[in-house]
Order: sequence, then structure tokens, then C-alpha cells
Amino acid sequence: MAENGELHLHPLLDQGIRAGTGSFAGGTLACRCAQDKVELRVEGDVAFNHACGCTKCWKPAGSVFSVVAVVPRDKLRVTAHAEKLQVVDPAAAIQRHACKGCGVHMVGRIENKDHPFYGFDFIHPELFAEHGAAAPTFAAFVSSVIESGVKPERMEAVRGRLKSLGLETYDCLSPPLMDAISTHVAKRMGVLAA
Ligand SMILES: [Zn+2]
Ligand SMILES: [Zn+2]
Repeated sequence: MAENGELHLHPLLDQGIRAGTGSFAGGTLACRCAQDKVELRVEGDVAFNHACGCTKCWKPAGSVFSVVAVVPRDKLRVTAHAEKLQVVDPAAAIQRHACKGCGVHMVGRIENKDHPFYGFDFIHPELFAEHGAAAPTFAAFVSSVIESGVKPERMEAVRGRLKSLGLETYDCLSPPLMDAISTHVAKRMGVLAA
């Protein structure tokens, strides 16, 4: 985003959000290499699609936010050029597998079975060749965009743009996801029956 220029949130957001079909059967995600593309096949629709302002998620050049969604890990498989995938940060809870050629993050996977989101893979729906996946419904980690260079005084405009797109803004995850994390922790601690 230019210092004083127009806000480029993300290509899937800037022109208005295109609604999902509600019956998306899945599709193929491809990296941005000119050839020998890494390809993933996803069966079924995505869930919890959202804009994310954290500094770890992959964003297209010039975008302030990433758009990221989850799919069950057993509904995703790498169908081409798995050898080009490399984990960006092996120490992170979410292992983001990026293409060594173009740098695009193809899938974020959690290997820790105690993690609240174990069993879900994180993907970037803009990489689908097909249209119609469930649209983004909220914006998470909005304040974190300051860490990637957005001036604090622009935050009101950033939140305003997101809200005008119908995306509620949160500075952590959305309430249902925060509830899922706390439910997981409460069950592990025995506060809630498992
Ligand atoms: Zn690539
Ligand atoms: Zn993120």
C-alpha cells in the first residue's frame, strides 16, 4: 500500500466481495509459477473464509490483507509438484508450505494434535482456478497490519473500508473461532466435559 495512496486491501476485496455459490464442490489451487505449478485439490467448500492482517499469512504483492479459509485436512491433497513445497517457519504452530519457485503459500497445516485447529488446513481461496467458494465474512488481526507498515492513523480508514464491504473487524479471531479455542482449552483442563 502506498504511503498516502489508495488502500489496496486485497484483490478479492477491492472490487467488492463476490458471493459464493453455496454449493461449491471444491477445485484446484495452483501456485503462480509460469510452469511446473504446484497444484492442490480440495474437495468441497471452504469454511471461515476471512481477511487476515497478521504478518505470517501470505499476501499478494501490494495487498494489506491476506484472504484465508479452512478446509478439513483429509479433503486436501497435493496433486502436482509437491517437491517444490517448503515449510516457511518450522517453529510456527501453522506450518505454511510455500512454493520454492514463486513464494506463494499453498497450504498451512497444523501437526500438533493438541492444537485447537488440528484437522484443518489453511488455504488461500484466490488460488482456486474455479469461482464460487464461500466468500470472506470477517476480518481478523486487523490491528496487526500496522506491523507490516500501515500507518496507525490510517486504521480508521482501513476498518471503514472493511466494514463497508460487510466484514466485521476483529483484532484477534472472530468470536466463534475464539470460542472454539477456549472450548478446546477448557476441555483439556477438565473445566468442560470432553
Ligand atoms: Zn510456484
Ligand atoms: Zn494471518
